[in-house]
Amino acid sequence: MTVPAPIGLLAELTHRCPLQCAYCSNPVQLDRRQLEMQTGDWLRVFSEANDLGVLQVHLSGGEPTARDDLEQIIGHCAKLELYTNLITSGVMLNGERLKAIADQGLDHVQLSLQDVDPLNADQIGGFKGGHAKKLALGAAVVKLGLPLTVNAVIHRHNIQNISEMVQLALDMGAKRVEIAHVQYYGWALKNRAHLMPTREQAVAVLRYGQQQIEQELARIVADVQAQRGSIHRVDFKNPDVIIAIEIVGNEVRYRYDHETAAARLRWSRRRRTIRRAAERI
Ligand code: SF4
Repeated sequence: MTVPAPIGLLAELTHRCPLQCAYCSNPVQLDRRQLEMQTGDWLRVFSEANDLGVLQVHLSGGEPTARDDLEQIIGHCAKLELYTNLITSGVMLNGERLKAIADQGLDHVQLSLQDVDPLNADQIGGFKGGHAKKLALGAAVVKLGLPLTVNAVIHRHNIQNISEMVQLALDMGAKRVEIAHVQYYGWALKNRAHLMPTREQAVAVLRYGQQQIEQELARIVADVQAQRGSIHRVDFKNPDVIIAIEIVGNEVRYRYDHETAAARLRWSRRRRTIRRAAERI
């Protein structure tokens, strides 16, 4: 059996984070700073990943901006022409450092939100003033022209605000919104009883989600029908989750374009080629 080369690498650069979310997927026993992998080791890992065929690296944690060598790591990845996604809580990053990181070749920022209500958001993250810092960072990301994804982790204490969170992300200028329910491992597993939404909350959110999907599909189909004959790119975060819509005759086909997109992108090893390939999908 042939195992295909990996496309993306999620790198947890550190377990350190100034926030204290009860749903954190960090392990219950955290690595101390002195036990973290050193800069040279990370650079070697990214070089080896590149040799393996990896195209994207997701720099996460903990809070990756807690590392002083983040600029060096991103610069190294950019030289290898890897697509870099910084996954951050945003509270340690000001506009000046963001610019310095962007200058090293950062491609994308994913910013987490705890809630729309600043008080509740700060309480969930255990960091006073954190929500305001996140909004400021989101604005700085958009101003720099970097694509922004807003990631909202939902649970019992914010799930009722899901539609407002989506609206806030749009108002911030996010190109993409991720609503992710807590994953129950690490600290989240320890706190599961406290975090699990009630049945009533879950049913209400399901109804909201179905409505949104139907509205969005109707909008996309209308858009595609207006340009009959072409294939439309709907989502292009990861090469393996591209969804395309195509009109053939009178039939609208939704296509989960894993194989062709992955093969095409694997073939187009260089960043410029990848971007051109994305435009064609
Ligand atoms: S911001 Fe992320 S890494 Fe930090 S405590 Fe919250 S979930 Fe964990």
